[in-house]
Amino acid sequence: MRPFLIIWLLILFSGYCQQNDPYQVERNRMVNNQIIARGISDYATLKAMRKVPRHLFVPPSVAGQAYNDWPLPIGYNQTISQPFIVAYMTELSRPVKNKRALEIGTGSGYQAAVLAEIVDRVYTIEIVPELAQESAARLKVLGYENIIVRYSDGYKGWPEHAPFDIIIVTAAADHIPQPLKDQLAEGGRLVMPVGNPATVQELIVLTKRKGKITEQRLEPVRFVPLKRLREK
Ligand code: SAH
Repeated sequence: MRPFLIIWLLILFSGYCQQNDPYQVERNRMVNNQIIARGISDYATLKAMRKVPRHLFVPPSVAGQAYNDWPLPIGYNQTISQPFIVAYMTELSRPVKNKRALEIGTGSGYQAAVLAEIVDRVYTIEIVPELAQESAARLKVLGYENIIVRYSDGYKGWPEHAPFDIIIVTAAADHIPQPLKDQLAEGGRLVMPVGNPATVQELIVLTKRKGKITEQRLEPVRFVPLKRLREK
């Protein structure tokens, strides 16, 4: 009987801890009301969204809004996407263990962390040096050893680590950069907002099969523009 008693006490204790972590309660509410309610069903994505402490990825001044249904400013004129959009792009990328992902637009590091809960390794590129540095430090403190952050222009991808099974671009442009298409692995999926970077874009999913790329157009979305570093 004893082991059962211990297990039962452990279950009771973990339930008690969860109830006493206000952010866990808020995260569960966010997942139920904003994400499952709008049709996201991938188990790994939902599990990751319930786990990653989003309030630690935003400035302390807006931490109280971290689990609300909107994007938030993260400084340097950039934003962390709305939770639903992060979950949607994650699900669309079909993440599973053993995959390698490339993200363009590290920002706060939140999307990278959500992916890193599921896939083997995440390479992420950020064009604002301060954001790259802050996110790398944040992800290290949070123990994400499978995320590698680089300061660079993500337009060119990361050829040294290509090909990637998943490429997620979290900034908008009027076309999909050719280097990213080239760096997509066989069977891989690329998710990116494409359209007018100043107004509205469409979420596009590219799939590469037998070297051939097919395109799927989905919801209208709004992202900050994909910038370019000036060539020297
Ligand atoms: N994925 C982020 C939010 C993205 S906001 C998160 O989870 O918080 C878009 C980010 O893309 C911004 O931080 C912006 O600086 C970055 N960005 C814009 N153009 C870029 C480029 N060419 N290469 C890499 N990052 C870029």
